[in-house]
Amino acid sequence: MLRRTKIVATLGPATSTPESISALIEAGVDVVRLNFSHGSAQEHQERAQLVRELASRQQRFVAILADLQGPKLRIARFTEGKIELQVGQPFTLDAGMDKNAGTQDSVGIDYEQLIQDVAPGDCLLLDDGRIELAVEEISGQQIKCRVLVGGPLSNNKGLNKKGGGLSAPALTEKDLIDIETAAQLGADYVAVSFVRTAEDIIQARTLLQKTGSKAGIVAKIERADLVNTVEELDAVIRASDAVMVARGDLGVEIGDAELVAEQKYIISQARKLNRVVITATQMMESMIHSPMPTRAEVSDVANAVFDYTDAVMLSAETAIGQYPAAAVEAMARICVGAEKNPATHRSKHRIHQPMTRIDEAIALSAMYAANHLEGVKAIICMTETGATPLIMSRIKSPLPIYAFSRHPVTQHKVALYRGVQTVAFDAEKMPADEVNARAVAELERLGVVTKGDLVLISKGDYANAQGGTNSVKIVQVGGRIR
Ligand code: PGA
Ligand code: MN
Repeated sequence: MLRRTKIVATLGPATSTPESISALIEAGVDVVRLNFSHGSAQEHQERAQLVRELASRQQRFVAILADLQGPKLRIARFTEGKIELQVGQPFTLDAGMDKNAGTQDSVGIDYEQLIQDVAPGDCLLLDDGRIELAVEEISGQQIKCRVLVGGPLSNNKGLNKKGGGLSAPALTEKDLIDIETAAQLGADYVAVSFVRTAEDIIQARTLLQKTGSKAGIVAKIERADLVNTVEELDAVIRASDAVMVARGDLGVEIGDAELVAEQKYIISQARKLNRVVITATQMMESMIHSPMPTRAEVSDVANAVFDYTDAVMLSAETAIGQYPAAAVEAMARICVGAEKNPATHRSKHRIHQPMTRIDEAIALSAMYAANHLEGVKAIICMTETGATPLIMSRIKSPLPIYAFSRHPVTQHKVALYRGVQTVAFDAEKMPADEVNARAVAELERLGVVTKGDLVLISKGDYANAQGGTNSVKIVQVGGRIR
């Protein structure tokens, strides 16, 4: 069975050799994430190059997602590298102190603005929420806290404020440079971290377009302030091509218990607005050290599939884990297992809502016909930009959608869309009345359809018009096709 839910895997030290990247691709990765929080521009360049080479050797379209670091706040460093915080002890975050001179009593911070952003009574979370500090007093450059939840704390650990409210803008100086690098290495997607407003996305898009890049923009939803303002969240989704439910930071800011419902909301809202959605972080966490996932992890991935996410993501599992390819294989197996459930095949998507676009009406009607007419085995979608397969794949269906395109950029982009496969196809280069027959022949050659199967084909009158899809046709394999 063809897997519909896509897999994003983060590359890192555990996946930087040709062998390990090849193994990931073979295991079924659809998108690789280059995490700009770590590694040099040159390392990312080299990895991207390797991915392109190895994927094409396997005749696969693997998209590249460049993930910008954004204003991730961090504590500075300790003289000894690490301390142990006891519950109830005082501990100070000091913007004025030497960045390498942290002690049992205080440590530096990289972000001086923090002094203005916090007040007595606030709760600060360190190291993905493992350590909790209550802010008691602000004095000069110092934030004086008391430890609520203690434990080990080492250099450069992340810092979040419970409930949100940190004012750092989404794009940092480093991000501006990294956008250039992302464009140079031919990223298909660029992710913006700690998005506050739609403006952040527009700014990123403007910068990206200046470089000539056509990369899609992924908004990482990881700030409490953003999810608490429904209108702004909608505006961010609309401004982006895809969103990521960034459960690591979002869970720390809003609380892990609230996170589950938020995931469901973001996924459903993104799909309603014709946007793509990735569910990320700790999905197979135990597989960093174990060759098998836990039942809870299996359940988590399967539930994201039922929520109808486009893609599930691996972070440390593939970046620094001991079993990167096995993590991808396990994820693939769980996705396919969950997709067997009929609940993921039936759609009530916008059944009673009016539409404004012709291509959208065609895409949705095509999916309605494909899902209800017996014998349909595949959907062929002649596409320039990938817009029609995107809308089609917002609809629940067990049927594969084949994006037939002559543009490698489009073929890479659709790697992230649930249920969408791609075939290189140039309708311009063949007589108009042979296009459909040749397209169906391609699917026959790939073993997707055989004699007697029905195939649904959507296209525009002018093969190279963007957003021009205006017709849908149903043909039978083996019959006369025009
Ligand atoms: P990160 O983003 O891995 O870059 O922090 C994802 C998340 O916060 O979940
Ligand atoms: Mn994050």
